[in-house]
Amino acid sequence: MKKIFDCIIIGSGPAGYTAAIYIARADLNHILYTGPIPGGQLIKTNEIENYPGFPKGVKGYLLMENFKKQAEKFGTKIYFNNVIDINFKLNNIHEILLDNNKKIQTKTIIIATGAYPKYLNIDNEKALIGHGISTCATCDGFFFKKKDVAVIGGGDKALEEAIFLSKLCNRIYIIIRKSKMRASKIMQKKIYNINNIKLLFNFEIKKIIGKKKLEYLICKKNYSNEEKKINVKAMFLAIGNSPNTNIFKNKISLDKNGYILTKKNSTKTNIPGVFAAGDVKDKIYRQAITSAGTGCMAAIEVEKYLSSLDLEE
Ligand code: NDP
Repeated sequence: MKKIFDCIIIGSGPAGYTAAIYIARADLNHILYTGPIPGGQLIKTNEIENYPGFPKGVKGYLLMENFKKQAEKFGTKIYFNNVIDINFKLNNIHEILLDNNKKIQTKTIIIATGAYPKYLNIDNEKALIGHGISTCATCDGFFFKKKDVAVIGGGDKALEEAIFLSKLCNRIYIIIRKSKMRASKIMQKKIYNINNIKLLFNFEIKKIIGKKKLEYLICKKNYSNEEKKINVKAMFLAIGNSPNTNIFKNKISLDKNGYILTKKNSTKTNIPGVFAAGDVKDKIYRQAITSAGTGCMAAIEVEKYLSSLDLEE
């Protein structure tokens, strides 16, 4: 007879690993599938200063490595597979299809697939990814040492990317579409104290010019026809994220922006035995700590759900 797991966790960001730590300590039979970016978006974050317990800050990849080690210590099996389809069934058993064509059966699922970086969706953008266009300064900044570069966005991520680049590159333009930044005040203060960062408020990118690699950008002022040519070798996008819910479309309740809908004060989805945690269901807080928190909630709710199944049997 085919093995039926107690819980399958999909995703390996703070939500997925926290869920795994709790599920493992509850001695439930489980597996965590990492998805395409083991460690999630945080591995692309250079310095995390607001995760409690690290007064000196911590590198994103190190934090995620520690999450992983802690889950493994308690017995979580981690596989680097992608889940490509799910058959949510109503008889208490769900079936997951992996990218190696294997099918896995489970009583519960924790979806912690996170979010992926947004693009501007303008001409030439996709063609120049890896040739001057990037969503990760920590990963790609090194290739633009001593060059002029641009960061797009005015949130915490954009400012963090700019601070990282300011130590490597010559001049960093931060291009912000509004007249103010969305980032926290402490990050804004830091930016104003860095000499090689130049802020361009009320500008949006209109054109990306370059054949084989990025040559320059054309920006336009939002409230006039003023245009600016910005000579940069790289453009780092930091304009927010979209939830990774493509495989769940028409299978689970999503909101109009594609986030998984969960019951109030809970990680329960509309499907019994299926729970969602982290950025895939959270468009408000989107912090590593809140993701970890909902991962913990999901694990506790899985335990309760499995106990209720035991009572039924
Ligand atoms: P945010 O959603 O907070 O910010 C996105 C930024 O991009 C905003 O300035 C937004 O402008 C701008 N933007 C969105 N779409 C476009 C567009 N099409 N063209 C131009 N600009 C655009 O995302 P972040 O990734 O910065 O942050 C996500 C979460 O992670 C936040 O909660 C943040 O606090 C957290 N975070 C914390 C860090 C830390 O503590 N060190 C580091 C990084 C992130 P507008 O304001 O006009 O909408």
